Order: sequence, then C-alpha cells, then structure tokens
Amino acid sequence: MKVIEHIKKAKNTSLFSFEILPPLKGQSIQSTFDHIDPLMDFAPPFIDVTYHREEYIYKEQPGGLLQKKIVRKRPGTVGICAAIQNRYRVDAIPHILCGGFTKEDTENFLIDLNFLEIDNVLALRGDAVKNEIYFNPEKEGHHYAKELVNQIVGMNAGEYLDEDLKNNCSTDFCIGVAGYPEKHMEAPSLMQDIQQLKKKIAAGASYVVTQMFFDNQKYFQFVEQCREEGINVPIIPGLKPLASQRQLSVLPHRFHVDLPDELTQEVLKCKSKAAIREVGVEWCIKQSKELIQYGAPVLHYYSMGKSDNIQKIASAVF
Ligand code: FAD
Repeated sequence: MKVIEHIKKAKNTSLFSFEILPPLKGQSIQSTFDHIDPLMDFAPPFIDVTYHREEYIYKEQPGGLLQKKIVRKRPGTVGICAAIQNRYRVDAIPHILCGGFTKEDTENFLIDLNFLEIDNVLALRGDAVKNEIYFNPEKEGHHYAKELVNQIVGMNAGEYLDEDLKNNCSTDFCIGVAGYPEKHMEAPSLMQDIQQLKKKIAAGASYVVTQMFFDNQKYFQFVEQCREEGINVPIIPGLKPLASQRQLSVLPHRFHVDLPDELTQEVLKCKSKAAIREVGVEWCIKQSKELIQYGAPVLHYYSMGKSDNIQKIASAVF
C-alpha cells in the first residue's frame, strides 16, 4: 500500500514509522531483524531503508604508493526491503539516489522494485562522494532529485528509456522526497530551497519527509512556509534522539541542523553515556508529543541501527 493511502486511512491520527540502514557488508540480515523486531509492537505501516552509494578508499601499497579502491560498505537496500515485506507484511520504502546511478541503472532498479511489489520510493539526489566537495552526477545520470522524480513518474505512465519498447508495463510508485526545515546546506536561502521542493512536488512527488530537527518551531515554520507557497502534500517530520556527546558536533556538521542550547546544556551536565541517551530520549518524547498535538501525519524516526531508544520513545508516545 502507498504511504499516501496509509496516511489517509489513519484519519488524522499520527502514525509511527522509522528508517533503518542496511547492515555493514559481511554482517547478517539477522542484525536488521533484531533491530526491527521490538519496534513492530508499535505497528509501523512502513519502514524506510537507506541507500548507500560507493565510496573511494585509498590503500597503501608496499613502497608507499596509494591504490584507489571503490567500495560499497552497506549494500543490500533492495534485498532488505523485500525481506521486510516478506517477513513482517509491512511496506518497505527503499531510498533511491541520483548519485552513482545512470538513468538506465535507475530504470533497472525500479523494474526490480516493481517485480518485488514494492509500491513506494523515497527519491533523493544523494550527497557528494566522500573526498569530493560537490555532488557530481554520473555522465548519464540525474543532477537533482526532481529529475529522478520525473523518470519515476514517466515509468508510472509506461515510459521507458528505449522508445522502441512495445507493450510497456506501467509501474505505480508513490514517490516521497526530502525537505529541510533548516534549509539544505547548498541552497542559497530557505525560500529558494522551498521553491525547489515545490518543483519536486509539481513533478509528481506525493509527500515530503524532513531532515531531522531538534526544535519543533523549525518544523512548524517550515510547514507554514510550504503551505504559503502552495505545497499541500503531507510533510512528515524526521526525528532523531540524540545519543552521545560526540553528536553535539557531528550532527550540526553532517546534517546542518542546530541543536537548541537547552538540550546541549542538559547533555553537557551528564556524567555517563547512559545519562546522555536518557536526555536524548526525553527530549525526543517531548518533541513527539508536541508534533502529535500539532497533527503531524507520521512521526518518522531515524534509528541509525539502534532500536532501544526508539522503543522507549514509542512506548511513551504511541
Ligand atoms: P535535491 O532536491 O536535488 O536538492 C539538492 C540541492 O539542490 C538543494 O540545495 C536544492 O535547493 C538544490 N536544487 C534542487 N534543484 C535545483 C535546480 N534545478 N537548480 C538549482 N538548485 C537546485 N542520502 C543518501 O545517500 N542515502 C539515503 O538513503 C538518504 N536518505 C535521506 C532521507 C531523508 C529524509 C533526507 C532528508 C535525506 C536523505 N539523504 C540520503 C541525504 C540527501 O541525499 C542529501 O541531503 C542530498 O544532499 C540532497 O538530496 P535531495 O534529494 O534533497 O536533493
């Protein structure tokens, strides 16, 4: 079932969902199931699975020369989605990127998803490859998520890259896209970023999932601005419980989000890792309760491979 149908069916009740990462290459899928199992008590209608593109690593050779190697540390997005749908009977949403994909790769990826009866995708541009400053598309790939949305919408209408194909089967994907309450790092202003978001919706995306934020006011203002600009699709807030002191600098650096001073002070007072995780959980519970009161369609948690804190939050909120 499509995300948009789940939201309609819930009739103004906030749903619970979460995002997982595929395990590191070499680990078993059991680690993923162990992570998902305790969260199934909260009846997620869908689970997102991130996509991790290739990275370049440099290996020192005898004699000191560096050999460049291309690695994918977390493959398996499509396989995990299929396994989730099969094991839990819950919709799995693979993330699909422009980065690292030619249009042909994208088409073939979507064909696989269609055969596996996966009805939803989250269409993203992807970040620059590690060691590069700017995002570079493949030669035959897409520059922006909006172009990727166009291709998926085309396949939903039976349009494939090879114009000579006959009797094409149409896909029927529900497409989500990313939104940034605190602006995407490369956008010149929040308003310009919202204009680009508006184009992704006009191209055929049906809902937005936001980057994590720690101050609900940022989300409320973002939703208001989106509505003023004529973006009327559901905007799903993305939430992450803070879990370590290191994240006080890692999260702003990696995700370009602000951490409220009150939260930072609480974390700095903690004497143990467990105490910090507790502060993160309590903060996220407070955020979640306020978002439900506001009428957020779904609360979407970035679990990042740990379920104990998401479980505590969900127990307190759902
Ligand atoms: P776009 O919508 O293409 O926007 C990228 C930038 O370009 C923005 O600054 C936008 O304002 C600007 N822009 C857009 N169109 C134009 C245009 N025509 N002209 C000029 N500027 C333009 N990354 C992964 O690698 N794997 C994942 O699984 C993943 N999951 C994510 C899930 C969520 C909910 C979110 C919020 C992010 C996720 N990301 C993931 C990170 C994401 O790939 C990066 O944030 C990426 O830098 C931007 O992706 P986007 O789809 O928002 O890009």
